[in-house]
Order: sequence, then C-alpha cells, then structure tokens
Amino acid sequence: MRVLVTGGAGYIGTHTAVSLISAGHEVEIADNLVNGKAEAVRRVEEITDTSIPLHVVELTDQEATDDLVAQGSYDGVVHFAGLKAVGESWREPLAYYENNIGCTTSLLGALARHDVKMFVFSSSATVYGANAPVPYQEDYEPLEAASPYGQTKVMIERILRDVAQADPTWRIALLRYFNPVGAHPSGRIGEDPKGIPNNLLPFIAQVAVGRREKLSIFGGDYPTADGTCERDYLHVDDLAEGHVAALDAIARRDPGVGAWNLGGGRGTSVLQMLRAFERAAGRELPHEIVERRPGDLPAFWADTTRATEQLGWTAKRTIDDTCRDTWAWQSQNPQGYPEE
Ligand code: NAD
Ligand code: UDP
Repeated sequence: MRVLVTGGAGYIGTHTAVSLISAGHEVEIADNLVNGKAEAVRRVEEITDTSIPLHVVELTDQEATDDLVAQGSYDGVVHFAGLKAVGESWREPLAYYENNIGCTTSLLGALARHDVKMFVFSSSATVYGANAPVPYQEDYEPLEAASPYGQTKVMIERILRDVAQADPTWRIALLRYFNPVGAHPSGRIGEDPKGIPNNLLPFIAQVAVGRREKLSIFGGDYPTADGTCERDYLHVDDLAEGHVAALDAIARRDPGVGAWNLGGGRGTSVLQMLRAFERAAGRELPHEIVERRPGDLPAFWADTTRATEQLGWTAKRTIDDTCRDTWAWQSQNPQGYPEE
C-alpha cells in the first residue's frame, strides 16, 4: 500500500515508518515539524535504505492538506499528527482542541474528497478515564478523559464514528495505546522530549546519561505490590508493528470502525522499570520517593484479547529489551537529535 504517515517525523511515527517499509509498504510523511525532526526522517531512510518524501505541511491548513492528498495517490493514512503533552494541554486547552481536532477534520475532508477511505488513528488508553475496570476492554463506556489532551482523543474517536456512520465505505482503526516506550535497537531513532521529560522512561534515561540528577518516584504508598504505580509499558517497535497489523486487518475486514487496545497486557511498577533500566545501563541510578503526582491512577493495563484475535498481533518485546534499546538511543544521542 501507499501510506501517508502524518506526524511521521515524531517518536511513534518514525518507528512505524520503519515497520511499514519493512512490511513492504511505500511511505510518505507529512509533518509540520512542531515536535518532529527532519533528521529523524533522514535516519529512518538510513535504517530502511529507502528514500522517504517528507512533506512539511501544516495539517490544520485545509488547502495545503487537500493539495497534499490530491497529489499522493495514497491507499491509506496513519494519523499520528497532534500535540501530546498532558500538562501543556491544561495550560493551553484551545491550542490542543484547535490543533488536534483541526488537523483531523481537515485531513478527513481531503481524504473524503479524494476517495482515500482507510484510516488508522492514534488514540490512547486515557479515553478510559478514571473509572473503567482493569484490565481495560474496548467496549467500555462512557469514554471520558480528565485532560484537554485526552478529551481530544475522545472527541476524535467520536468524529471518526460519525464519519463512518454517514459514509459506510470508510475503514477506520482506533488504536488505543498504553505506555509507548523504547527505541529502535540501532539506537538511531528514539524519543526526544523537549525540556524536562514528564514521562517515566525518558526521565530515567536522562538520569542515566547524566542530564538529570535523580529520579523522583511519585508516590510509594499505592495499593500495588511494591507501593509504586503500575503501567502497561509497550516497546515502540511492538506498537509500530501493531499499526501494520491494523492496516492489514481493516483492508481485509468489512468496512466500518473498530477500536483495539495496543498494550502488553500486564502492569509493571515504577520500581521494576527503574531496576530494569539499571540492568541495561550497568549501574544503580539515584532516586527518591516523593509525593504522589496529582491525577495518577494506581495501576492499569490492557486487555489485549481483541488485538490478538482480530489483528493477529501481540507485543513480543520484554521490559529488558525496551530498556536496552532506550539506553542504546540515549547513550548514543545524549542530547537527542541535533538542533535543526
Ligand atoms: P510526537 O510529538 O513525537 O509526534 C507527533 C508529530 O505530529 C510531531 O512530529 C509533530 O511535529 C506533528 N504535528 C503536530 N501537529 C501537527 C499539525 N498540525 N500538522 C502537521 N504535523 C503536526 O508524538 P508521539 O509520541 O509520536 O505520538 C504520536 C501520536 O500518538 C499522537 O497523536 C499522540 O497523541 C498519540 N499517543 C502518544 C502516546 C505517547 O505516550 N507517546 C500515547 C498515546 C497516544
Ligand atoms: N513517574 C515517576 N516519576 C517521573 C515520571 C513518572 O514516578 O519522573 C511515574 C508516574 O507517577 C506514573 C508512571 O511513572 O506512575 C508512568 O508515568 P508516565 O507519565 O510515563 O505515564 P502515564 O502516567 O501518563 O501513564
């Protein structure tokens, strides 16, 4: 298939481009580079030994998006483009609603006009809100999310269901990611957060490489086995392969919309993650237990039955694989990608 990857210069998009190309697809990338890097796309070309057109496009711009889709002869789209920082979304909600919803509706309009009706969307486990029973199952309702960021995912899922209801020829996958972590084993591409990382593994990796003094563990008195929160961490290459499986599945299934959890199906605690990273880096890492972070849930993970049965996909990589690959990326690129 000829696949347009929006947001393909970002963290998950670059890894998915590698998996799509490895599976025999042809990839083009569209990104406004607000958080992605052209250098990351160059490195995907190096890993895959291919040439990848990078369209630097603002996807909220309907005319530019229409021009892009008009010239592309795409068979399908994997839509990663969006802003993703939960904390920032509380401070700048309008920017999140305008960007995330605006670029999705602009893209869907262009795709409908040019008859490209295969669409894979980056949703998130955050749509399950605070009350869903663990493990999370796809048919849980009502979807709700605490943050404006999460709310854009709930709203876009709704928009996509409405679009498919109005035109039943659409084939749409809503992929609800749990906690994507890790990097390509080459260490050439990986997660490159701006400023102080909010997420656990990038923070630990920056402690290990000497950019941060110590890890603060947010809460040691949760009702979990070791008192720290548990999450369903998923190697980004497993996640990337989940997108390839989802594209294949929606191409062969009846048209319509499906939601699938992409997770490992088990919880790992903050302390277990820290210990795994210490094994990868070969030394102990400074840390302390501090106050809980407001809004954190004690523990959640995915029920992955549906993805296994319907997509033929399961996460294969271990937490140790993940930490080894993250350390390869962080130690080879201590400051992330070079500034452009
Ligand atoms: P990322 O920031 O690395 O990638 C997103 C890309 O989209 C960036 O390269 C950015 O430049 C681009 N972009 C943003 N707005 C755009 C616009 N208006 N026009 C064109 N390009 C635009 O983020 P990521 O971690 O790779 O996440 C990809 C997607 O997966 C996002 O939609 C995110 O919300 C979702 N997601 C991520 C996680 C996670 O933990 N990383 C978890 C669940 C869901
Ligand atoms: N966490 C932590 N210290 C950090 C960052 C995160 O203890 O510096 C914890 C956080 O409280 C949560 C887990 O690590 O329990 C995963 O956090 P992350 O932000 O990566 O994912 P999310 O909470 O969004 O699932």
